[in-house]
Amino acid sequence: MLEISLPKTIVVGERATEYLKRIEGKRALIITGKTVRRMGFADKVANYLKEAGVESEFFEVEPEPSVETIVRGAELARKYAPDLIVGLGGGSNMDAAKAIWVLYERPDLEVSSINPFIKLGLRRKAKLICIPTTSGSGSEVSWATVITSVTEERKLELANKELVPDIAIIDPEFPMAMPRSLVADTGFDALTHAIEAYVSPLSNDFSDAMALKAIQLIFKYLRRSYVTGDKEAREKMHIASMMAGIAFTNSEVGMVHAIGHVAGGAFHIPHGKLMGIILPYSIEYNSRVAMRKYAEIARAIGIETKTDDEAVKTLLENILQLRRELGIPSSLKEAGVSAEEFERKLEDVSNKTIRSVVLRGNPRTLNLEETKKLYTYIYEGRSVDF
Ligand code: FE
Repeated sequence: MLEISLPKTIVVGERATEYLKRIEGKRALIITGKTVRRMGFADKVANYLKEAGVESEFFEVEPEPSVETIVRGAELARKYAPDLIVGLGGGSNMDAAKAIWVLYERPDLEVSSINPFIKLGLRRKAKLICIPTTSGSGSEVSWATVITSVTEERKLELANKELVPDIAIIDPEFPMAMPRSLVADTGFDALTHAIEAYVSPLSNDFSDAMALKAIQLIFKYLRRSYVTGDKEAREKMHIASMMAGIAFTNSEVGMVHAIGHVAGGAFHIPHGKLMGIILPYSIEYNSRVAMRKYAEIARAIGIETKTDDEAVKTLLENILQLRRELGIPSSLKEAGVSAEEFERKLEDVSNKTIRSVVLRGNPRTLNLEETKKLYTYIYEGRSVDF
């Protein structure tokens, strides 16, 4: 049995945010970040809410929000008693909104106790609206929230179907403001969501359809979104990112995210950039068992070769080329991790990675030995040959 999870409402296109003028509610807590506020986006959202008779309060979170920040946000929520929680910004802000919402509705829970198998019983106090300003995380439609445990130097990979927002607003105005490096990083995050969802053993006809269309849009528009940043390209990437989020919520991500979440906590490299670094290695490693699915991806973006093997090789070359053009490093070494730090943390990151819950979504299993070897290859920039 497959239970498909989607927001009740997804509003897409120019002026989509004006949907808020018609929203029902009394008080909104807008979870956002410094940059988004400085650009005036948070005020814009608050003004539309005001037209609907909804008053607003803001709560700012840092990039890669910590458990402590979530706890503070939930305290504010309990005082302010909103009936709408709004996550506005990149993945960090929307993920924070989800976690704050959970603790607001369920003061008896801790952040780390969110998991796919628990009944949360959300929506007794508030609804969740998510409005992305970058085109990568897919958090506006996803069941996932990633929160950083500073003390453990680790990212908590939390998910629950009840966390899928009620309303997602996909307004192309916001991603127009992204600087190029963010377009590159977030674009590779979206591409990784779609590819991992497609090759996952948990994939299905529904997630496959979302993943393939997202991949097609990304190959068609990511380069342009980066180079010229025109409106059509940015809008298509915003849609692709949302579709990739739906894909992995109804399938799963895999080893790129497992490694990326751990490496992100250990080496402090932004999530999207890490996805771009790791994705090609995962294709080399996984294609031994998932060759056919990678070949289907290749054919979906117009690669015409006779054998699956050739198709996957060409797909990999295309991704490496795109990664070069978008200025994403090809290895952890190139990303600036020192050999000393890498050696010192290798054992620990490998151990944490094999315990990642998202590995259940990877087509090929990883044991400790292979994981260590993979890290070394990703550090040095060597093609995976095992
Ligand atoms: Fe991601």
